[in-house]
Amino acid sequence: MSSNFLKDKDNTPFYDSWESLNQERRNDFIRESLKKFITSCRDNSPFYQERLADYDPKNPTDLTKLPTMDSDTLRDLVPPVSFKLLSREVRDYSVFQSGGTTGFPKTTLFSHDELENLNLPNARGFYAMGLRAEDRVGNLFAVGGLYMTFIHINRMLQQYGCMNFPFSNQTAVDFIHQALRLYEVNCLTGITSVVLNALRGSKKLGLDGINIKKVYYGGEHIYPADKEELKSDFGVEVIGAPGYGTVDTWYIGYQCEHSPTGVFHSHDDQCFIEIVNEETGKSCKKGEIGMVYATPFVRTLTPVVRYKVGDRARWIDDCSCGRTTPRFELLGRGDDILRIGYDSVDYNSIQNIVTPFKELSGSIQMEKRRLDGKDQLIIRIESDHPEAVGSDVIKKLEETILASRPTITDHLKKQTIHPLKIEILAKGSLPRNPRTGKLMRVVDAI
Ligand SMILES: [Zn+2]
Repeated sequence: MSSNFLKDKDNTPFYDSWESLNQERRNDFIRESLKKFITSCRDNSPFYQERLADYDPKNPTDLTKLPTMDSDTLRDLVPPVSFKLLSREVRDYSVFQSGGTTGFPKTTLFSHDELENLNLPNARGFYAMGLRAEDRVGNLFAVGGLYMTFIHINRMLQQYGCMNFPFSNQTAVDFIHQALRLYEVNCLTGITSVVLNALRGSKKLGLDGINIKKVYYGGEHIYPADKEELKSDFGVEVIGAPGYGTVDTWYIGYQCEHSPTGVFHSHDDQCFIEIVNEETGKSCKKGEIGMVYATPFVRTLTPVVRYKVGDRARWIDDCSCGRTTPRFELLGRGDDILRIGYDSVDYNSIQNIVTPFKELSGSIQMEKRRLDGKDQLIIRIESDHPEAVGSDVIKKLEETILASRPTITDHLKKQTIHPLKIEILAKGSLPRNPRTGKLMRVVDAI
């Protein structure tokens, strides 16, 4: 492979010819890739031998009869727990973190070939969002603790041919500030809150000579107020998400310069994407809202069929940019998870921590708020005798929650989120759904 991706680029206005291929050739490729992938899962992965018995290669893109996979099940099938999912005996893979929870992190394995293959969808997304070889890019993604993003973004930038500034999320703002000025860095990429933090910190030190025109974010949602701030306070002109995906699967989608927030083109040569109505089990028609399932047919060491990504989405019309890759719109998480900074806090983990506290009931609500561009997690708990719950209990609870969430603790240290807030309320005071009486367990920021 050349050291500069763009020199090898197809002669198309897009990153590669797949993006404007006609529907017939696209369908042929997807059918063949999926057939090859599923039969290979069945033949090589001990876990999938029987589970995929119902697959019909004559109707290769109908996966609706096949079982799905979720994050917890996946965890028990890969090292260090077991080798059941692995399709071959190899040692040349990297182990990455997939979710920062208590104790040893959940892990995901990428063979080194797979890591190299990630460069294509990654670069395709950056190209579609306007990255060019002349750009000077500061990489602020997370590094260390087996985090994956920084490493593969770094690799992609080297191959893309840009000037590369591997800051990661670990560099002090005054150092970043100086480098941005001295090297005329014009582009930042990273988790939204880390990029904002670097820019806000730079503002305090003076924005003279700092001209960031492009911000490529990932890992968390960007709010309209954040976008506005990037434009008005820092003069950023292009703001977009070049890659949507999960470390348990692959890159699933990418934005182009015509994409509003939340709208993505599919990487459908990499990953078979389903949007499924979970009540009927059928694939959603255009416009119908369902849950995203991903079958990355380029990931063969730990093959995953119909992985439940956890996001709600719908298919939408083709884009005016001329790409023929189908588009979908993400509509937020479909489960009890709040994204706080770049930690994903799930309701059950909070409930498990509260349960041993005898003074508190199991009726809990967690809410995410956005204040001054930063996240805040609020946990409300009902009690039979709220007046008897002392500040020592609340303090103990807070300590236990923080001890279980290293990422949140790290955010607090860096002041990139607001302090956790715990409220104790009288029984019955949390809002319930008036129709079903069910507790409204999770409230996301809008
Ligand atoms: Zn487009």
